[in-house]
Amino acid sequence: MKITDLKCAIIGNNPVVRITTDEGIDGIGCGEASKPYLKPHVLFYKDLILGADPRDVERVMRRIRRMGAFKPWGTAVSAIEVALWDIAGKASGQPIYRLLGGKVRDKVRVYNGNFRRKMGGPSPESHAENMKWMKELPQKFTIIKQGIAFHGGMASEVPNYYYGDYEDVDRFPKRGRMTEKGLKHTIACVEAMKEVLGDEVGLALDVGPGVIPQDALKLAQSLEHLNLMWMEDMITGDYTPHVTASLYRDVSINTSTPIHTGEQIYLRQNFMELIETRAVDVIGPDPLDVGGIAELKWIAEYADLHGIDMAPHGTLDGLIGLAALTHVSATLPQNYLAFELPNAQFPWWHDIVEGMPAPDDIVKDGFIDMADWERPGLGITLNDETRKYLKEEDADFLD
Ligand SMILES: [Mg+2]
Repeated sequence: MKITDLKCAIIGNNPVVRITTDEGIDGIGCGEASKPYLKPHVLFYKDLILGADPRDVERVMRRIRRMGAFKPWGTAVSAIEVALWDIAGKASGQPIYRLLGGKVRDKVRVYNGNFRRKMGGPSPESHAENMKWMKELPQKFTIIKQGIAFHGGMASEVPNYYYGDYEDVDRFPKRGRMTEKGLKHTIACVEAMKEVLGDEVGLALDVGPGVIPQDALKLAQSLEHLNLMWMEDMITGDYTPHVTASLYRDVSINTSTPIHTGEQIYLRQNFMELIETRAVDVIGPDPLDVGGIAELKWIAEYADLHGIDMAPHGTLDGLIGLAALTHVSATLPQNYLAFELPNAQFPWWHDIVEGMPAPDDIVKDGFIDMADWERPGLGITLNDETRKYLKEEDADFLD
């Protein structure tokens, strides 16, 4: 079997990858909905993989893996890897999870980091109201993650929240020492949310990046009594092109609150120091940024040897990403906690993706049932309806 083409179309806002072969089998992968600009980057790899046997996934990846980097520049390589596994699965008549060594669990726990409504401001009361709404969602999530501090609007909406400089531009990297007022406000919001969840639903926090290590430690220590699931990306994280493991270690060894990072990190090598020095308690690689699903599985196995838990990132990965996350998460060792459930960026995604349960049946009581994922490859395909949503320049995407 040989790869005959690598295509990329922007569907909704997700860069969707399609690899075709000389045997009529094709495979799909995708990147986050925040990255429609990556189409040229995907196509950059085309000449490097044409003619290769897509079923030899690692052999193909060796051709392109070294030309990627931290988020967002690992996405194209990762999306291609997912499409290769899709082909390998379809060619052998097996779901991807079985090619990765088989299931470790029949039900895969997911968490809510993505199903949201607009909040009524940054007050503790509105955090509590919002948490009540999320607790009652039909998915019955057993873990909910909320952005606080530098992650989301809190740092810009609460006056005198921190001492750093702030510029009102998209993706501005807020960073700096928090004011006493800022620290107190943050703690009050977390306490209000926890009050709603009690000990029935776990609370995780996405906190940065941009929190200085001393404040990270203060926050983690002052929230210890709340038994949080984790505090994520406090010092470095989302779109930070480095790791700085030693700063994380200073925090994590001095608190019982689990410390989490890793969604932006590309490749296993860049997790080495975090894992080997046990600088954090939980890591969250995203299969669509880290280099693919096999890369994520390797990292999970290595983390397990070091007593570190797995909570993979996935918020904007769309339905194709949901399939990739489901297959790999079913195969992870017992350090697996939950992955961040992506949703359809537009409701019509459910009309064009074939092979998934109905939107309300994807998650039951906080879990994905692997009995719904027995079809070959990713288990999902794009149907003819997809053509309606293709841009003019992508009109031949399915041909
Ligand atoms: Mg995050």
